[in-house]
Amino acid sequence: MAETKRDYYEVLGVDKSASDADIKKAYRKLAKKYHPDTNPGDKEAEAKFKEASEAYAILSDAEKRRQYDQFGHSAFDGAGGGPGGFDFNGAGFGDIFGDIFGDIFGGGRSSRANPNAPQRGADVAYGLRVTFEEAVFGCKKDLTISYKEECSTCHGRGAKPGTSPETCDQCGGKGQVVFTQNSMFGQIRNVQTCPKCHGSGKIIREKCVECGGSGYKSTKKKIEISVPAGIGDGQRIRISNQGEPGTNGGPRGDLYVEVTVSASKDFERRGLDLYSKSEISYAQAVFGGDVRVKTVDGDVLFNIKPGTQSGTVIRLKGKGVYSLRNKAMRGDQYTTLTVAVPKKLTGDQKEALRYFDMIYENSLGAEETEESKKKRKTFSEKIKDAFEDLKK
Ligand SMILES: [Zn+2]
Ligand SMILES: [Zn+2]
Repeated sequence: MAETKRDYYEVLGVDKSASDADIKKAYRKLAKKYHPDTNPGDKEAEAKFKEASEAYAILSDAEKRRQYDQFGHSAFDGAGGGPGGFDFNGAGFGDIFGDIFGDIFGGGRSSRANPNAPQRGADVAYGLRVTFEEAVFGCKKDLTISYKEECSTCHGRGAKPGTSPETCDQCGGKGQVVFTQNSMFGQIRNVQTCPKCHGSGKIIREKCVECGGSGYKSTKKKIEISVPAGIGDGQRIRISNQGEPGTNGGPRGDLYVEVTVSASKDFERRGLDLYSKSEISYAQAVFGGDVRVKTVDGDVLFNIKPGTQSGTVIRLKGKGVYSLRNKAMRGDQYTTLTVAVPKKLTGDQKEALRYFDMIYENSLGAEETEESKKKRKTFSEKIKDAFEDLKK
């Protein structure tokens, strides 16, 4: 573990249920206070500014915020083995902070996308199924992912070697076209992605044969990822820099591994706790004693009290699922004890049970009938005989 990082919510001084607007407002206040432009040479302010910016970059992005809520800081330190970390200078920074700094510093930034500016590649999703036990204890998995790489023939430009992409004549290389429209509110200027070059600002006349002009080639790549102990069904693991390549030198997108956890026949998971059912015999319920209970760590013996009723729930502390946020934390297991009703009995067993039932009835105050007296007598004699046999 690296140095302890402050909780992002704490950094921004908001609570976990804060709305996007609250988060933005909180960050704007901090950014204004600690921005390097307003605190030249103040290292402490700079650090505070960076810390707040990092928190905002994560919490202002719905997906990243969800990841953070689930995994904490480990969501961004390469839990899956990727390089990870928050790239303060990465592309997209402008997208996130542009409007805020525009608000603070008087709209200096233009939001218009420059087709020649480095752009981050798209994120990619990958579905992974793990067993219930793998999810509880964590595991390593080899994934074969489809990985786009720059075409080595055209070096990502998409043009046939010896030729160059030309500047788009419709947009003049801007990638966007502006058209004016008359409406009841007056003239409106509309900005649209250039339909001819689709926003790239370039037209490729002769396409690279190797990649068909896309500039990329898809290869299969094997990567090993760590699935953290305690991962839940439907949760995602972010692996940085394994998504689609960026354009114009921008960084790659991320790979999101979406985990599906197979159901277990023995356990049901609710949060960090596990629920199960265990059968006990009638005699165990009556006399108490050690009951064998299946846990994810293997069978354990649990001592039950005499007279334990069917439906009693026992708690096995620390036999649940590990917390993703705090590896030292583990849920509990609750098991419901059910008295097993035997389906097949021998004649003697049946008779013993009937006799038990009869004397049980009597103990409740029922009057003994002639018939039950007779039965009791024959049964007592049988037991005597059985003991006599044992003595021989
Ligand atoms: Zn090519
Ligand atoms: Zn164009």
